[in-house]
Amino acid sequence: MSTHQPTAIVTGANRGIGKEVSRQLAAQDYTVLLTARSLEKAQAAVNELGNNLVPAQLDVADPASVVALHERVVQEFGRLDVLINNAAINYDTWQRAINADLEMVRETFETNVYGPWQLIQTFLPLLRQSPHPRIVNVSSGGGALNGMGGGTPAYSMTKASLNALTLMLADELRRDRILVNAICPGWVATDMGGSGGRPVADGAKGIVWAAMLPDDGPTGGFFRDGKPIAW
Ligand code: NAP
Repeated sequence: MSTHQPTAIVTGANRGIGKEVSRQLAAQDYTVLLTARSLEKAQAAVNELGNNLVPAQLDVADPASVVALHERVVQEFGRLDVLINNAAINYDTWQRAINADLEMVRETFETNVYGPWQLIQTFLPLLRQSPHPRIVNVSSGGGALNGMGGGTPAYSMTKASLNALTLMLADELRRDRILVNAICPGWVATDMGGSGGRPVADGAKGIVWAAMLPDDGPTGGFFRDGKPIAW
């Protein structure tokens, strides 16, 4: 079965920026799989947000969970147009590269890099069938090599890697018309960003922009608020 509405997956969407991205895409008539590690939390977010949203369990660090979601999407929707890799952990302001807990750095790579990578590989066959396929990797200015300094080693290393992955995939998937971009949402007031950042609606906007790019839109870019920023 294949639905006629464009379909999107948003990871880590039970709270923060992912939840708001889901709300904004649903308002644009996408069918949005609002995914979360906990199905109950995904359901609660869907209950709060309303139409065009479907709750789904997804732990991006668990390969079996990725495979299970893929099976469900194939059977229930038969299509995927937009994949938004939003879930991330460990903005590790408390440690530095010289003394970082490398076990924790490895864990951070599982969620922030290998998770998105596995999702992209798994959903590529469906994305290739989409008329307007888009992959959005939610990154951070903290992953920019330009001006990279000390601090937040797990977070910055993983976001720099996600940026590199974005460039590779954009190149490899150009012939498949799949636009792949890395987006920094700016400093946003969420559990991760803390207080003082801008509203989630503003941070989410640039991510939705990348999800809805026209076919002649950019690929292999790093953007904030729809404008290129330095890698
Ligand atoms: P957040 O409030 O901490 O939310 C993170 C989300 O990711 C939660 O829903 C969390 O689920 C989920 N998550 C964590 N590990 C997961 C896993 N293994 N599988 C699936 N979901 C998982 O973060 P945020 O501020 O909304 O950040 C969203 C994105 O924006 C991240 O990629 C972040 O790096 C980026 N970003 C944020 C800022 C900022 O200022 N906030 C700045 C630059 C970039 P649980 O509820 O289960 O933990």
